[in-house]
Amino acid sequence: MSKGTLAVISGFSGVGKGTVVSRLVKEYPYSLSVSATTRDPRPGEIPDQSYHFISKDRFEELIRDGGLIEWTNYVGNYYGTPRKFIEDEIRQGHDVILEIESDGAFQVRRLYPDAILIYMLPPTFAEVRSRLVGRGTESADKIRSRLAKARDIELDRARQYDFLIVNDDVDTCVKELDKIIRTKSGIRPSQTDLLDKLKKEADSMQL
Ligand code: 5GP
Repeated sequence: MSKGTLAVISGFSGVGKGTVVSRLVKEYPYSLSVSATTRDPRPGEIPDQSYHFISKDRFEELIRDGGLIEWTNYVGNYYGTPRKFIEDEIRQGHDVILEIESDGAFQVRRLYPDAILIYMLPPTFAEVRSRLVGRGTESADKIRSRLAKARDIELDRARQYDFLIVNDDVDTCVKELDKIIRTKSGIRPSQTDLLDKLKKEADSMQL
């Protein structure tokens, strides 16, 4: 049996990747990696389905024991991908989706050079801000820090991904994502000015 593929999906928070990814794994035969995190659950999140919500001590123990294939500290909380699920699934030939940020994505690429790294972009930066504000789960300060991070770091990191995808419409985006993973083809960062356009827009925003 051939080994499964790892598809890593990243994007700014507020770009809607959660919605797209949950539709993708519902409608297509992909396995979804559930991350561990030390952040508090948000309303509506289900333990061990949305995340494994664990303590800082437990997280640090997992790091020491090699129980994570990657981990990072993002805006004050730990996030990481449990090793066992990933290894079991790819051994069984299943394709696995990881929804993680860019620091973790590059760690995955180093460990699994065949992994496909896909970066999800919003049509505009203004849209990201209004989605984050609309979600109403975070303070204005936290939103500002997430957006500033997106502008200062994420846009440049997106250039190092294998493929870009724009979340203009959820249905289309889900189909596109499946196609990129199956065919290992799509929009390469070097073939488009999408990132330059977003950078220009972000630079003109007051953060
Ligand atoms: P949120 O707190 O909004 O659920 O997630 C914050 C960020 O952490 C998102 O960019 C999300 O993709 C990322 N993230 C979630 N799980 C993991 C993980 O296991 N590893 C890494 N490196 N990032 C993660």
